[in-house]
Order: sequence, then C-alpha cells, then structure tokens
Amino acid sequence: MPELPEVEVVKKSLKRTICNLTIKNIDIPNKFLRYKIDEKFMKKMVKSKVLSVLRRSKYILINLNNNYTIMVHLGMTGKIIITGTNKKNYKTSFYYELSNSKIAHNHLIMKFSKNILLTYNDVRKFGFIKIFKTKNLHLNSHLNKLGPEPLSKKFNFNYFKKNVKKRKVYLKDLLMNQKFIAGLGNIYVNEAIFLSKINPKARSNEIPLKKISLLISNIKKVLKKAIMEGGSSIKDFNNTKGKNGNFQQFFNVYGKQGSTCSRSNCIGTIQRIWISKRSTFFCDICQK
Ligand SMILES: [Zn+2]
Repeated sequence: MPELPEVEVVKKSLKRTICNLTIKNIDIPNKFLRYKIDEKFMKKMVKSKVLSVLRRSKYILINLNNNYTIMVHLGMTGKIIITGTNKKNYKTSFYYELSNSKIAHNHLIMKFSKNILLTYNDVRKFGFIKIFKTKNLHLNSHLNKLGPEPLSKKFNFNYFKKNVKKRKVYLKDLLMNQKFIAGLGNIYVNEAIFLSKINPKARSNEIPLKKISLLISNIKKVLKKAIMEGGSSIKDFNNTKGKNGNFQQFFNVYGKQGSTCSRSNCIGTIQRIWISKRSTFFCDICQK
C-alpha cells in the first residue's frame, strides 16, 4: 500500500508533467472505485488548466483554474500512468510500458494539451477520485482531522511530547494514527522504530524524552531517503514512470523476519509479531 514517500514520488512526477496543461477530454471507462466517480461532475473539469499538484498525507491534490481540486487516493493498487506521444521530449521523465498494466483496470483517462494522457488504473479498486471546491478542500472528511505532515516543522518535539503523554496506546499504533501524524504506514513506522532502538510494544506514554527526539529525526530521515529512492516497490506500487522504487533494498526490518540484525555490532535476529493485526518487525536484541 502506498505510504507518504510513494505518494510524494507520484505527486512529483505529476507536478513535472501536467502543471499548466489544459484538460482536453475525460473518459471514464469504469466509475466503480471505493467511491463511485461522479461522471457528470468530473467531465465539467474539461477545459480547465492545472495550476498546481500538491500532496497532503496520502492524497494527491490537483488544483485547477476553475476553483476546483481533484483529489486522488491510490488505495492499495492505484496507479497513475502518464503517457506522452513525443518520445524525444519526454523519454527521460515519465515513459511507461502500457502493456504492464491491464487496460481492463483503467478507471479514468484524462487527455491534456501537448498530447499527454493520464490514466488511473486500479486492480483492487480501493483508491478513489473526488472533486472538491478548492477553498473548502481542508474541510472535507478526508483532510479535516489529519495530524501534521511528518516532514513539516509542526511535527516536532513539543508537539510529540504534548500528545504522547495523554495516550497509553502502543507507540507503533500512535505513529500509524493519521490524526496524530499524517501519511505514515506500517513500513516506515517499523523502520523508524528500529532505527531508534525502541521496542514496538512500548506504550507511547513510557517513551523517554531522549528517545522522542531520536524517533522524530529517524521518521524524517527514513521518509526523505525513501522519497529519494523513488519509494518502495512492495507488491503493487510503481511510480508514474512505471518504474519501481528502490527503497525496499534499504529495509532493515520490514519483511526481514529470520534475518540477522543489520546493525554491525548486534547479533540479534529480526522477529515478526502482530500488533493491532499488523505485522511488526523488530530486532530481539537491540530493540529490547
Ligand atoms: Zn539488532
């Protein structure tokens, strides 16, 4: 499932390719996603121009010059495929082998000026595409309760300290709670907890203050590195170029049960347990 870094990578590709382009045509071969695409409303976006492409948590926000914003959530298997017709101009930025994704799972195809095509493809249909008035965007139920972005300055020691004391949940669950911090999921939480030498079963109110600073800096570090590597390709994620991310090569614990700990001075073995029905990976020695 795409987490913050994967969505950020897709957003960056979109920003590079569709900003300032005009929507020429919208085709909706299959409106059935997590929420039905409002065909009539969506088609009203034709002739508008893309002003900017932003990300909030795991949502991609395409701001148009008609005062509307298209929100895209990739769900589990949502893919955005950008296809250009002029290889000379676009070959380095976003070429995609269309044969890799089944046309049967195409839900929405937008044709832009400069012959750029954007296709939303989703095998498992957990993603969605909605439209909101740009000025009311922050009020909708997807965005209005989100915590701060982990890479923003708002996600800092004071924020963490203030919120962590009130809650006695597993630290891991707190980090995955989108109201506390937006965009983190199971992969990056497991990795950040490992880097901080914290036991995943620790309760949030028991974490020493010293560890909080370390954890915050490791969360930021792991996300930045993952974005730089193009995200992680686990099962279903490709970026808009159809290229796989590379960050999975740098996993220390995620999916590594049975391996020796990657810390050079540690002889521990990576264990897999379940916390709140989510697989949790940790070293049995350095994360005691
Ligand atoms: Zn270890």
